[in-house]
Amino acid sequence: YTFDKIRNFSIIAHVDHGKSTLADRLLEITGTIDKNEKSKNKQVLDRLEVERKRGITVKAQTASMFYKNDYLLNLIDTPGHIDFTYEVSRSLKACQGCLLVVDAAQGVQAQTIANFFLAFEAGIKVIPVINKIDLKTANVEATIEQLTQTLDLKKEEMLFISAKNGINCEQVLDEIVNRIPSPIVNYDKPFKSLVFDSVYDLRRGAIIYIACVDGEIKKGDKVKSFFTKKVYEVQEVGLARPDFRPSNKIQAGQVGYMICNIRNIKEALVGDTFHLDKAKIEPFPGFKSPKPMVFSGFFPEDSQNFSLLRKSIEKLCINDSSVSIAEDSSPALGQGYRLGFLGLLHMEVFKERLEKEFSQSVIITAPNVPYKVKFSNQKLVKFHGTNELVIVNPTLWPEVHNFDETLEPVVSGTIVCPNDNFREVNQLCLSRRGVFESRQEISGDRVILKYKLPLNEIILDFFDKLKKETSGYASFDYEDIFYELSDLVKLVICLNDIEIEELTQIVHRQRAGAISRVLVEKLRDEIPQKQFKIAIQAKIGGKILARENIKAMRKDVTAKCYGGDQTRKLKLLREQAEGKKRIRETAKIEISKDVLINILRKE
Ligand code: GDP
Ligand code: MG
Repeated sequence: YTFDKIRNFSIIAHVDHGKSTLADRLLEITGTIDKNEKSKNKQVLDRLEVERKRGITVKAQTASMFYKNDYLLNLIDTPGHIDFTYEVSRSLKACQGCLLVVDAAQGVQAQTIANFFLAFEAGIKVIPVINKIDLKTANVEATIEQLTQTLDLKKEEMLFISAKNGINCEQVLDEIVNRIPSPIVNYDKPFKSLVFDSVYDLRRGAIIYIACVDGEIKKGDKVKSFFTKKVYEVQEVGLARPDFRPSNKIQAGQVGYMICNIRNIKEALVGDTFHLDKAKIEPFPGFKSPKPMVFSGFFPEDSQNFSLLRKSIEKLCINDSSVSIAEDSSPALGQGYRLGFLGLLHMEVFKERLEKEFSQSVIITAPNVPYKVKFSNQKLVKFHGTNELVIVNPTLWPEVHNFDETLEPVVSGTIVCPNDNFREVNQLCLSRRGVFESRQEISGDRVILKYKLPLNEIILDFFDKLKKETSGYASFDYEDIFYELSDLVKLVICLNDIEIEELTQIVHRQRAGAISRVLVEKLRDEIPQKQFKIAIQAKIGGKILARENIKAMRKDVTAKCYGGDQTRKLKLLREQAEGKKRIRETAKIEISKDVLINILRKE
């Protein structure tokens, strides 16, 4: 296949709009997969169990198909969730066009818009595809109007299909051939390729998916990573159909896989440029190594199981270059890890895989985002070799007098919801310290809202609340994480003046009071009474924001003194009071693991 017969495309869509179903249909029509071989609706490209269960695509998958004996069509599947925006944008850079799938019943949603702009920025051809026209609830006219209003797409460009029933799906293939340009390549230049995904095979090491732009690559060649500068010998190349089929070489214009004994997935990063060793090349622009944005402590439910947990986490991380790992320990939970993820969903998927694939039960501490502190003190600058630190573990927040400025990550959020829900949605965003930016009314009584929102305020329950306020009709997406100045404080919870490290968090000063009260009350309800009083306090910088006491259990020391010996009774009571006072002054209480688990679960 010469380059002019090749089309590289991907499918982008809001979650559930039918991306995987359409991919399956295209694979069937081209005979890439057998219709009868698999049960209906089993989505071939969503391989992980969690992906199937949640109906989302976590890892990009790729398949090459042959069409009408003439064309080689390379489908580059992209992950369909906001946690993976960067991966989507890299996958798109490996394509010359994409199908933008929109559900005719749901219309334009937040991710439709976000994904469209990723494609727009990548400068690739967009083919709008309105899906699910078979549904009774389909509103094709409103969907056309929305696409025209919001994305400036023309009705004449749109395709109308049912991916489920196969209606007009063959036309999709024809339009891919007609409208998407073939890749611009250079056979004569030395080999150069863009890495747009990688998976790990225990036996063979990393298998990297590449889009070859210049030259060609075959077994035995030496390749180099532009980012790591490491050199490898190629052991195998081939096409993904979607299973791996070895071939003699991969040429400019083609998309395929390469195996070259990479034993660490962090050496096969999405967006990197792999090229012929010793050749002078320009790398693909815009490469970023993955930046985890949500961090949590992971501890074994039974601390005896730490080494098992370690092995399982290591195995999972081998397949996921975007998780960051550091060891951690906690007084109540023992040894564990502090792991960083691209987002909360990414973290949940990881946790589910630990449980399902490795039978590990884990306790997870409240997630937090990476904060930044800046200082001008020259001694500190010298000591750290920088004037800015990223803090991913709240207990490591520096003393107040050691920094000048604190910053937190903020995102541009897009919400699409019914016009009638504007007030509730606006309320919710403002209560999360959001800053209103714009409002655009679109067809179908919908509205597109833009807010600047602190990441910390949306990682936990924002989306659930948003759904609740709009009876499930709102969609949400965000992009562009940037740091802004923010009045952040370290909130510490103490039991009789002993800090419970597991509950320490960084919060905005405005929110500290409310968070303190909730936590302190939860602890009061969860901690069992003791022989002595327990003081529960929430503090910032030594100042108490909220407190609760748990009264001492009163033991009836006079029970055995029946009869009338009043002096003996009084003496006993006096002794008890003194003893209590002594205990009260010295009693250091440690929080039990069960209490902590309950608190963390409720959070
Ligand atoms: P994805 O999240 O974009 O990959 O969406 P899926 O392909 O997983 O589809 C989500 C749901 O919509 C599944 O239950 C599909 O069976 C259903 N679906 C997809 N395409 C159509 C269609 O054309 N018509 C109907 N009625 N349902 C569809
Ligand atoms: Mg899918």
